[in-house]
Amino acid sequence: MFLTEKKDLKEIDEALSKYKKIGIVGCASCASVCLTGGSREVKEMERHLTASEKEVTFTISIDEPCDKRVLREDIRFVEDEMDDTEAVVVLSCGTGVQTIGEFVEKKVISGTDSRYIAKTEHIGEYNALCGGCDECRLNFTGGVCTITLCPKGLLNGPCEGHDGVHCEVYEDSECVFMKSYKLLSKYSEEENLNRVFFPRDYGLLLKQIKI
Ligand code: SF4
Ligand code: SF4
Repeated sequence: MFLTEKKDLKEIDEALSKYKKIGIVGCASCASVCLTGGSREVKEMERHLTASEKEVTFTISIDEPCDKRVLREDIRFVEDEMDDTEAVVVLSCGTGVQTIGEFVEKKVISGTDSRYIAKTEHIGEYNALCGGCDECRLNFTGGVCTITLCPKGLLNGPCEGHDGVHCEVYEDSECVFMKSYKLLSKYSEEENLNRVFFPRDYGLLLKQIKI
């Protein structure tokens, strides 16, 4: 699930200042699960825009606005209203925002900040586990992402701050490198402890443009 957080309304209002007729698109998948783009949040945004003297031309929730096949089907329901719309507030992650912008060829305004790929514990509690960095090292760490879980984002760790168990930054949490050590021992893969990872190759990002 892609974790998003609601943006400050002031930023959204500022981005909308030139526009009067506004459509709202929610994401009924990840953004709905993390309470940033479900039908309740779409309603909230509608109330906010109406109170700000905007004209809300339509509201719609799309299952996966990042999937052009789904988008193509669902957006037909608001086709006429879209023609009469100046800007669209999108309550999804950045992928949904950009997919919609390209598809409808209208000004799009993001209503959320995109964060991490996360595990849902239950509604309202999420744990970021993956940063989508394109050089997955999970096969060498016992299956935990140290870059995402270490607050210092370390690739080769641990730092000197741990006490053998806990992280020095989050004292209630286990240092992710201790966790990695335990998992590697459990699976008899201790040889990976000697592995030194080289800095991330940002050149690999170029291939993410189209896969
Ligand atoms: S648009 Fe983003 S938040 Fe919505 S389903 Fe796609 S990846 Fe998840
Ligand atoms: S104690 Fe471990 S998890 Fe915490 S900052 Fe240092 S290396 Fe990272």
